[in-house]
Amino acid sequence: MNTKPSLELASLIEGYRRFRANGWNPRRERWAALREGQEPRVMVIACSDSRVDPAQIFDVDPGQIFVVRNVAAMVPPFETSPGHHGVSAALEFAVQVLRVREIVVMGHGMCGGCKAALTQELAGTEPGKGGFIADWIELLDGAREEVVHKHGTEGREAEKAMELAGVKVSLANLRTFPCVSELESRGKLTLRGAFFAISDGLLHVLDEESGEFSPVE
Ligand SMILES: [Zn+2]
Repeated sequence: MNTKPSLELASLIEGYRRFRANGWNPRRERWAALREGQEPRVMVIACSDSRVDPAQIFDVDPGQIFVVRNVAAMVPPFETSPGHHGVSAALEFAVQVLRVREIVVMGHGMCGGCKAALTQELAGTEPGKGGFIADWIELLDGAREEVVHKHGTEGREAEKAMELAGVKVSLANLRTFPCVSELESRGKLTLRGAFFAISDGLLHVLDEESGEFSPVE
């Protein structure tokens, strides 16, 4: 077996060593306390895209946010169909066990998942050849219609509209979970929509009343 690390792993290990030296070692007491358990107040649902790491964007430490990342930062609706409901499991854990106070759904600029939902370029492909993605981003089909009606299927304007609409879809789907809607109605849980693009580095937050995303001061 080849035990020599690849260039990629070697670069990760270099980063790990920097983390040990600068992030971990100086604050050992904090990390020792975390051994007993985690009490994050916020759950963040973000895209798997390499450009939008919530821990980096919000500059938080281990233990502060509970994160789910997937293609296009989607939350599926509450479904009891057979299958492995990964997002629903994480949501259940965050809400029922960790009792987070807030859930932030964060969409992002140049999202490939949202673009594929818009263009339907993967529609009809087999699982393993694009089919899993196509199936997943079907979650955006309802919102897509309005976007296409207004902006067509191509161009940055249409793509951004789809990215923003995706955040609203996930928020709506979150509210189909009885545990979420109940806690929200009792004021114990707050849902937020957000949007971030690495190109301008700006975080936008959704005002659900107006439906508009505005940059944070
Ligand atoms: Zn994305």
